[in-house]
Amino acid sequence: MADKRDYYEVLGVARDADDATIKKAYRTLAKKNHPDANPDDPAAEERFKEINEAYQVLSNPQKRAQYDQFGHDGPQAGFGGGGFGDFSGFSGFGGGGFGGFDDIFSTIFGGGMGGGTRNNGPVPGDDLRYDLTISFEEAAMGCEKEINLVRDEECPTCGGTGAKPGSKVDTCPVCHGSGQERVVRSTPLGRMQTVTTCSRCRGAGKIITEPCQKCHGRGKVRVSKRRTVRVPAGIDNGQVLTIRGQGGLGEHGGPPGDLQIVITVKPHKLFRRREDDLYIDMPITFTQAALGAELDVPTLGKPIKYKFPEGTQPGQIFRIRDQGVNHLRGSGKGDLYVTAVVEIPKKLTSQQKELLRQFDDTASGNQYEKKKSFFDKLKDAFS
Ligand SMILES: [Zn+2]
Ligand SMILES: [Zn+2]
Repeated sequence: MADKRDYYEVLGVARDADDATIKKAYRTLAKKNHPDANPDDPAAEERFKEINEAYQVLSNPQKRAQYDQFGHDGPQAGFGGGGFGDFSGFSGFGGGGFGGFDDIFSTIFGGGMGGGTRNNGPVPGDDLRYDLTISFEEAAMGCEKEINLVRDEECPTCGGTGAKPGSKVDTCPVCHGSGQERVVRSTPLGRMQTVTTCSRCRGAGKIITEPCQKCHGRGKVRVSKRRTVRVPAGIDNGQVLTIRGQGGLGEHGGPPGDLQIVITVKPHKLFRRREDDLYIDMPITFTQAALGAELDVPTLGKPIKYKFPEGTQPGQIFRIRDQGVNHLRGSGKGDLYVTAVVEIPKKLTSQQKELLRQFDDTASGNQYEKKKSFFDKLKDAFS
């Protein structure tokens, strides 16, 4: 430690300099000796450390007083264990009391640190989302739909280069076409390489001297086009149709994104759908249920005749095969499930009432299975 330079000498200030003078001297020297500003001078790193060390002490009234009294060989206590001689890098620096490390960097780099990086390698285009609402039948049977698609396409005037046809396009002199700038910094933690987007060409790698007038240098133009989309039979609510290569344009030769068509299926007034099966509630009168009846049951196509058997029960479900929705993958269809909703008239004429009473007089207890079973259980429970 004997060869350590005097801190006042390092910063080039008088022993009685005030805080503002010290800070100003420090900032000037730190900027001048920052390793990033002196990539070819390895000694700059040492000087930079020395300047920081001096400032750390002289900017702190307590440390400065001790330094004034004892010099470099002052008592170790109170200086974070290491004393002045051991400058321990970032942790003791920027943490507190110090001018703020970010402060220095923003001064030197104009706030350009740590931005997102980009380069001019191939970048795939974004996927485009299109919301398409179709009817229940269209989903089940399949359909063709016209959609209006707005997307970027390669500018036909400049062929996507962004440059006016015939004008000169130069390789970026800063990044030599890579789109990136590499900055090697020496820090007390070692040499660190930062890659940032080239500040000159913003990542494009080239400099357009005369932008294309059609696309204003973007290389792409917004185009609105109608196109037909074939929706396969069996598609369901929330499913996504992907059309490859119909999304946003890629950049720097990257592939285009996909067009994602998100399907919304409108509900049906009669049918419910679970996977590829359909469900329907079929009203049937109490006499039809008792006698059996052939009824027209709606399907997605023409209604079909279905024979409800004698003694159809309320809520009984009948399966009609292959009258559901087409399987989206593979052949075949789901089934149609028909629930018998037995309806009892709320108003009867006196003649009808009379007929029903006559019917009831002839009915035996055994004809009502549930009623019989209920009373048998009731008897058991109380005997
Ligand atoms: Zn560049
Ligand atoms: Zn253009």
